Amino acid sequence: MRQSQLFTRTKKDLPKDEVSASAQKLLQAGFIHKEMAGVYSYLPLGLRVLVKICQIIREEMNQIGGQEIELSALQDPEIWQKTKRWPDETVDIWFKTRLKNNTEVGLGFTHEEPITRLMTSYVQSYRDLPRLIYQIQTKFRNEARAKSGIMRCREFLMKDLYSFARTEAEHGEQYEKVKNAYTKIWQRVGIGDSTYLTFASGGVFAKYSHEFQTVSEAGEDRIYLDREKGIAINKEVLTDAVMNDLGVTKKNLVERRAIEVGNIFSLGTRFSESLGLVYTAEDGARQPVIMGSYGIGPGRLLGTIVELRHDQRGIIWPASVAPFAVHLISLCQEEADEKQAEKIYETLQQENIEVLYDDRPDVRAGEKFADSDLIGIPIRAVVSPKTLAKGMVEVKERNSDKVSMVSMSELVPWISNRLNPKP
Ligand code: ATP
Ligand code: MG
Repeated sequence: MRQSQLFTRTKKDLPKDEVSASAQKLLQAGFIHKEMAGVYSYLPLGLRVLVKICQIIREEMNQIGGQEIELSALQDPEIWQKTKRWPDETVDIWFKTRLKNNTEVGLGFTHEEPITRLMTSYVQSYRDLPRLIYQIQTKFRNEARAKSGIMRCREFLMKDLYSFARTEAEHGEQYEKVKNAYTKIWQRVGIGDSTYLTFASGGVFAKYSHEFQTVSEAGEDRIYLDREKGIAINKEVLTDAVMNDLGVTKKNLVERRAIEVGNIFSLGTRFSESLGLVYTAEDGARQPVIMGSYGIGPGRLLGTIVELRHDQRGIIWPASVAPFAVHLISLCQEEADEKQAEKIYETLQQENIEVLYDDRPDVRAGEKFADSDLIGIPIRAVVSPKTLAKGMVEVKERNSDKVSMVSMSELVPWISNRLNPKP
């Protein structure tokens, strides 16, 4: 993509109405646009990152046998009345709206009810189970606090997967599979080292549910971390009995702020019993299906990556989710030089390397470099009359201060080595 054509621009000043560093940097660099409190739009750079995050999640969900669907946002009150989650007294985050015929519909804040009803059309016998079904879809929540930028929105994307099993043991296997897939996702998006499996309240078979919490000062949650064991306990459930249960001692725990990037939950038969999702077992008995639900917020994840990976100058994207792999910057003025820069741009594209090409005329070198640091593309390649005179390109990684010169023929291998380092 040519930066001269990109309709967004970086901003000089930090947005004043944002407190979280991620929202500040993302707004300043032109990744997102704030519509109102808790509501953001994704712009070309931001959307590229969001799509990559979703693709990584999708690959890991497909890898464990997940089948992707997309459920509607508009919700039928009838099924939510059956599970007692329609009244505002029991769920206080609903957005509801009235139809012309004076009946109401809701905007889905989660999807256990519709997916359970949907599955009653397809699950009849033990042969129709087990199943893992997921979607990446927009949720609406009338959140009271919306101070964490894109990490707590009123409209946001969620990957929600639902598991359907015959027995508790089978459910346990599904649960483990998803847990492992989640761990891979955190590693792939570059937050693996700071993200901990965290024991929280609300389990159905086990005493706990699990959250994945990423340690960050920007987090709204508080966790107690046992670094040696690699687990954490949500402050909400920390008692002597729980510590005993998990075999941890207070003196090995450190309190940290953390961001909940994912959540996994055994639902038991709460939804299948309320909505009639039953199957005929091998012995002919009618049994309610055992369910689980598993969420990840791709937008919150995007914000979390920025919280963990930025410096004074801007964002430092991991290659796996960066909007582009290479930021090619031309400082050329003369037509002959410009032609050479263009040629490098074309070569990189032919090699299927994603390039943002700063071909803007009349923008000072200093401004181009500042923009490049703010946007945070992993590799910067500069072409100038000086480098061209030597037949070279100046290269630098965003997360390092080391500047090197490579010849034209070395450029592609140099980039490839950095994007896919050999183990
Ligand atoms: P929280 O405790 O932070 O309010 P939750 O427990 O209500 O979240 P779930 O309903 O389990 O969250 O949602 C699954 C995932 O969706 C969360 O782990 C988080 O990554 C994401 N998520 C939840 N609420 C929001 C929100 N308001 N904005 C962006 N992402 C969200
Ligand atoms: Mg939670």
